[in-house]
Amino acid sequence: MPQVSIVAPQRTIREGGNLTFVCKVTGDPIPTVWWHTEHLQSNYTTQETISGATLELALSLVDVSSKDNLYNLTCEAENRAGPGEDTVPLDIQFPVTILWLREPEQQHNWCFPFAVDGNPAPNISWLYNGNPLPRSGFIYTQLIPDIEDGSVQHGCLFLNKPTHLNNGDYTLIVQNGLGSDRDTVNGNFMDNPFESSDPEGLIPVTTNRSNEHVTENLETRVFGVSVAVGLAVFACTFLLLMVLVINKCGQRSKFGIHRASVLGTEDDLAVSLRFMNFGASPPSSDEGTLDSGLSSFVENPQYFCGIIKDKDMCVQHIKRQDIVLKWELGEGAFGKVYLAECANLSPDSDKMLVAIKTLKDANESTRQDFQREAELLTVLQHEHIVRFYGVCADGEPLAMVFEYMRHGDLNRFLRAHGPDARILEEVKMPPLGQLTLPQMLQIAAQIASGMVYLASLHFVHRDLATRNCLVGEGLVVKIGDFGMSRDIYSTDYYRVGGRTMLPIRWMPPESIMYRKFTTESDIWSFGVVLWEIFTYGKQPWYQLSNSEAIECITQGRELERPRTCPKEVHLLMQGCWQREPQQRLIIKDIHSRLVALVKSPPVYLDILE
Ligand code: AMP
Repeated sequence: MPQVSIVAPQRTIREGGNLTFVCKVTGDPIPTVWWHTEHLQSNYTTQETISGATLELALSLVDVSSKDNLYNLTCEAENRAGPGEDTVPLDIQFPVTILWLREPEQQHNWCFPFAVDGNPAPNISWLYNGNPLPRSGFIYTQLIPDIEDGSVQHGCLFLNKPTHLNNGDYTLIVQNGLGSDRDTVNGNFMDNPFESSDPEGLIPVTTNRSNEHVTENLETRVFGVSVAVGLAVFACTFLLLMVLVINKCGQRSKFGIHRASVLGTEDDLAVSLRFMNFGASPPSSDEGTLDSGLSSFVENPQYFCGIIKDKDMCVQHIKRQDIVLKWELGEGAFGKVYLAECANLSPDSDKMLVAIKTLKDANESTRQDFQREAELLTVLQHEHIVRFYGVCADGEPLAMVFEYMRHGDLNRFLRAHGPDARILEEVKMPPLGQLTLPQMLQIAAQIASGMVYLASLHFVHRDLATRNCLVGEGLVVKIGDFGMSRDIYSTDYYRVGGRTMLPIRWMPPESIMYRKFTTESDIWSFGVVLWEIFTYGKQPWYQLSNSEAIECITQGRELERPRTCPKEVHLLMQGCWQREPQQRLIIKDIHSRLVALVKSPPVYLDILE
C-alpha cells in the first residue's frame, strides 16, 4: 500500500510569498502520485523525483493567496495494493480587514453582526461613542463557531436588553499584528422614554413648587402647626373632603385608571349589555369604595396625603435623576414597564432594583387618573400587595415606581412551570420545574392574604386575576397590578364598545349583567384565580368565545375541576362561585382554610378522585 507523507520546511508564510511542500511516497509497485490542486488560487508548479524507493512530488506555491487558507493541501497516491494520502493545512498570514459590520438586529439579545478576515486571528475590541466599551455579562462579543469559511470569522456584539441609554455609535476595531481595521455603525435600540413626547409643550408641566410639596413625606412634613389649628382646619375641611373622597374613590380610584379604561362608562355598558340582550338598563352601580378606610384625605394642589388607620401618608416623589433604566419588562395600554436602578430610595441601601411604569401620551385627564392612582397606591401597604415607592413627575413621561418582582406576572409564571412550558417556549423553567401542590397552595394563600387586607379597607379590586399578580424571589406572590396595562392579555377582556374592556371570564353573573362590583364579586374572581393556579395558567372557559362564556356564566355553569385540584380546593372554588353573592365564602375563611391546607397539604390521587 502507498505510504504518503508531506514534508515542508516552512508552513507559515505571509500572503504573496512562496512555499514548497514535498509529498514523499513509498509502495510496491511504485505508486502514482498527485496533488489536489483544483481549488488552489495561488500559482504553483510541481516536480517529480525518485530517490531510491521513495517517490517525491514537490509542489511550489508562488505568490500565495490568502484564499487558499480555505482548503487543506492534499497529496494522494495509488497502486494496485490500494490508495494512500496525507494532508496539511495552509497557514497564509495577512492583515485583518472587516468584511462587514451591520446595524443591530433584535435576536434573543440584540446583535451587531460582523465578519472579519485575517490571519492570525485578530483581537476584537469596541468603542462606544469613541470610548472603550466595557464588557460585561450584558454586553459581550461572541464568535460563531464552526462556520467553514477559512480565516473569516463571523460574530456578534451582543447587548442584553439595551435601552435608550445604549443608543449611539459602535466602532469595531480589529488588529492582528499585520494590520488593523475599524468600522462604525449606529445602534438605536429605543427612543428615550423620558424624552418629552410633547414638543409643543401642550401638556402642563408640574411646577417645582408642587414637586417640593410632593417630596414631603411623613418624616419631613412640618409638624410645627399647633394641634388646635390642625384640628380646626381638619374640622372645616372634613365635610368637604368626604364628598371629594367618595367621589374620587367611587368614580375611578386606582384601580381608578383601570376602571376608567377597563370598565368604561355606565352608558357604554348599559348600551352594550342591552345590545347583547342582557336585560334592561342596569340598576345604579353599587360599588365598593374606600370610604371607611380613607376617611380623611387632605388634598394639595398636585398630590394629597391621606389618613388611614390613624396613619398620615403622602405620595413620595422620586427624582428622575435618581432613576437609571435598565431594560423593558413589559408593556401595557398605559405605557411601558422598565426595570431600573433607583438611588436614595431606602436609607439602608444605596441603589435598589425597581419596576417603573410609565404613562405614555398623558393628557390632563390621564394625569389626574395617574395622580389618584398614586394616592391610592401609597395607602395600600401590605406584604402581599406590591410595594409602591412613589411617583416620578418631574418631566415626561409620568412614572410610578414599584418594587421589582423578579419572576414577573403570575399567569406567565404558572404557564412556565406547568406541563406545557415547552410548547409555550417559556424558557426560564429551572430551577423550580413543575409546580407542586404545596407550592400552588402557597401561591393561593398569599393572594388570599392580600385580598383579606383589601377587603378590610372595603376596597373592591374588580380585576383580580393571575395576570394581575406578581411573583418575586422565593415564590413570594403579591397582588401587583391595578390595571395600568392590558395589551398582552387583551383576549382576557371583552371589548363591549369603544374603550370598554371587561374581564368577563373572571366576573360573576351580577357583575356581567348589572355592573355590580362588590367584595363578593372579588370572591368569585378569587375562585377563578384558584382555578387558574390549578390549571397552570389556562384561560378560564378557553374553549368558549367571549359571548359563549358570558352565556355559560350567567346560566350558572361552573368551570370544571382541574385535574390537579384536590377535593378541598375544589370545594373552595365552588364556595366562591355561589350564584347568590351573600352565599359565597368570605375571604377571611378562604384564607384560613388555605393556610391550613398549606400546613398539611391533602394527599390526592389525580385520576381516582
Ligand atoms: P402591567 O402594565 O402592570 O400589566 O405590566 C406589564 C408587565 O410588566 C407585567 O406583565 C409584568 O411582566 C411586568 N411587571 C409589571 N410590574 C412589575 C414589577 N413590579 N416587577 C416585575 N415585573 C413587573
